[in-house]
Amino acid sequence: MHKLKTLLKFLEYKEELKEAISIRYLMWEPSLMCNLECIHCSNLCTQSNTMKSKELTTFEIKKELLDISKHYDAREIYFVVTGGEPLLRSDLMEVGKYAYSLGYKFGITTNGILLNTHTVKALQKANLSNIAISLDGIASDNDELRNYIGAYNKTIKGIKCLFEQNFKGTVSILCCVSSLNVYHLEEFIDELIPLGISTIRFTPIFGQGRALGQKNLMLSDKELHDLLTFIKEYRKKENKINVTLGDDGYYGVEFECHIRNNLHYCGAGIEWGAILYDGTVIGATHISKKYKEGNIRDNSFVEIWKNNFYDYREGRKELFSPYCKDCEEWILCEGGGFHLLDQQIDGNELCGYKKLRRIENEK
Ligand code: SF4
Ligand code: SF4
Repeated sequence: MHKLKTLLKFLEYKEELKEAISIRYLMWEPSLMCNLECIHCSNLCTQSNTMKSKELTTFEIKKELLDISKHYDAREIYFVVTGGEPLLRSDLMEVGKYAYSLGYKFGITTNGILLNTHTVKALQKANLSNIAISLDGIASDNDELRNYIGAYNKTIKGIKCLFEQNFKGTVSILCCVSSLNVYHLEEFIDELIPLGISTIRFTPIFGQGRALGQKNLMLSDKELHDLLTFIKEYRKKENKINVTLGDDGYYGVEFECHIRNNLHYCGAGIEWGAILYDGTVIGATHISKKYKEGNIRDNSFVEIWKNNFYDYREGRKELFSPYCKDCEEWILCEGGGFHLLDQQIDGNELCGYKKLRRIENEK
């Protein structure tokens, strides 16, 4: 009865969100430039950054932040700067400070290599409240994926610096799980606990950007099943760190409610929106550009947010119908994560739920 109530409440909540057309997570990809060139980067980021001339200026992004704050309560919005590597953008602190002055909560996702006393102090001054650091497993796994020997040690040094400088905000780890690191996660978590990390969020690798060419890194059905079982069991026995799965897809009642703090929910285009380096507006930074909805150089973000996004909202069922037609799980799943679309794979590969059922049927 309790579970049913939770479920009904959740479905109600999802409908309310769709009707409200309110923005809660505003992601900004300031640049495709990165100090690393990871073999599994979903964004094709490079050190040379050939797209620099197309990047939004400081003025353009600040103007947009101001306009959004006139239409929505900025205090309810997380402004999260992604990348590329956001610490390479020389105006990051200026934009962060400005966002904070308008009421936004300011966060970044970074590979952590550039965190040092100087950058941490500057981030504190800019009122950063949330930092998510990408680290993909123990040193050997991380460095192979990052294509850089020593990346792990540099990131750990950056994390330690945050704590030494008494960083007041939330520090979490984002870990992309592939066939390379899937069976080394407990060892990895053991290394993070003494550092003071509060949350680690695992996300299965998906075929976007450079990762598309890395078929050997994709999780097999069994590896996916083992990953979810690991998270479920770990959450039952340990509470020194919050281990969770990202909102990447729906996995059925056996796992939902056990692998994260909430039921699966993809908020792309419903409460999450993103502005890319060249002004493109889309549901989230890691979604295929095929699903872009406009550009702030032509129309304001608010106009695009209010008037477009049909595929993400009313048209979602139609869009996913080649894969999800007649699926009894639709009401809970709604196609899983939007970022899984357009990976040139068939429907069976897109659906985590079906992968798990295949494993169950083999037993
Ligand atoms: S995955 Fe992250 S750290 Fe690696 S190249 Fe892409 S943006 Fe940079
Ligand atoms: S077929 Fe579609 S709606 Fe059904 S579980 Fe899979 S992804 Fe979700």
